[in-house]
Amino acid sequence: MSADKQKPNFSFEFFPPRSAEAQGKFELTRDRLSALKPNFFSVTFGAGGGTRELTLETVMAITKATGIDAAPHISCIGFPIDNIRAVLREYLDNGIKRVVALRGDLPSGTTGVGELRYANELVEFIRQETGSAFHIEVAAYPEFHPQSATAADDLQNFKRKVDAGADSAITQYFYNPDAYFRFVDSALSIGIDIPIVPGIMPIINYTQLMRFSEMCGAEIPRWIVRRLRDFGDDRASIRAFGIDVTTELCRRLLEQGVPGLHFYSMNQYEASEAIWRNLGIDTPDSEIRSGKPADE
Ligand code: FAD
Repeated sequence: MSADKQKPNFSFEFFPPRSAEAQGKFELTRDRLSALKPNFFSVTFGAGGGTRELTLETVMAITKATGIDAAPHISCIGFPIDNIRAVLREYLDNGIKRVVALRGDLPSGTTGVGELRYANELVEFIRQETGSAFHIEVAAYPEFHPQSATAADDLQNFKRKVDAGADSAITQYFYNPDAYFRFVDSALSIGIDIPIVPGIMPIINYTQLMRFSEMCGAEIPRWIVRRLRDFGDDRASIRAFGIDVTTELCRRLLEQGVPGLHFYSMNQYEASEAIWRNLGIDTPDSEIRSGKPADE
C-alpha cells in the first residue's frame, strides 16, 4: 500500500482530443495543469469512440511535453486477448509504468465480449504477462456500479480486482462524501487495503453532468440539481456554484485523510485549477486551507 496520508496523490484525467480545436484546448489544459505538478495524468480509452492509438499518442505527448507520467486506460471487453497482449507490449516498449485497467462498455450493437469479460480478468492477465512492470489502477464505485446485482456483489467484484493484483483504485465521481467513506469502510472490512482515490468531477455543464450521471449511475443530490437547473443558461453562475460545491467536497475528503484526488478534467483546466488553488494544494507540502474561489 503506497498511500501517504501526509502527502496525497493528485492526478488529472484527459480524453484524447479529436479535432484541431480540441487539440488546442487540450494542450492549454495540459500545460496549465502540469504547472500544478500532479503525480500523474491519465488518458481515457474508448469512451466516445477513441482508439488505442489515440490514447497512446496522447499519453506520449503529455509525457514528452511535461515530463510527468501519464497512464493509458485500457479496457478488455470486446477485444481479443492477442490484441491486449500487443497493446501491453507497446506500452512497455514506450516506457509506460502505470495503467488504468477497466472492463469498459460494449458499444451498442456489438456482439462478442472477447476472452476477458471483467476487469479482474484483465488485471490477472496483465500480471501474468508483465509481472510487476505496471502500477495497476482499477475503478471503484462508492454508489455501486449500475449493472451490479447487489451492493455486496459489487464490493466482492471490486475485491476480485484487488486480489488479482491491482495496486490502487480511482472511484467513479460522487457528490456525497458519506457514500465514499462508507464504501472505504466496507472495503476495509473485507480486507481491501489499497488506496481508494476519490474521482472528482468538476461541475461545468448541467446537461452534460446529468447525461453522464444517468449513464454511470452517479447520484447528483437533489439540492445540486435544483440549483443548477435554476441557473438556466447562466454559465458563470453554474461555474462558480460548481467550483464552490466541488471545493467543499474535496476539502471534506482531504480533511478525512483520503489518499489523493483524481480530477476528471474533461480537457478543461479552469474548474480543476480553481478547485486546486482553493484547496491550497498548489505546493505539495502546503496545508489545506480554507479560502474563496480563486480569481482567474
Ligand atoms: P468491472 O470491474 O469488470 O465491473 C463491471 C460490472 O460487472 C460491475 O457491475 C461488477 O459488479 C460486475 N462484475 C465484475 N467482475 C465480475 C465477475 N467476475 N463476475 C460477475 N460480475 C462481475 N470507460 C471507458 O470506456 N474508457 C475509459 O477510459 C474509462 N475510464 C474510467 C476510469 C474510471 C476511474 C472509472 C471509474 C470508470 C471508467 N470508465 C471508462 C467506465 C468503465 O469502463 C465502466 O464503468 C464499465 O461499465 C465498468 O468497468 P469496470 O472496470 O469497473 O468493470
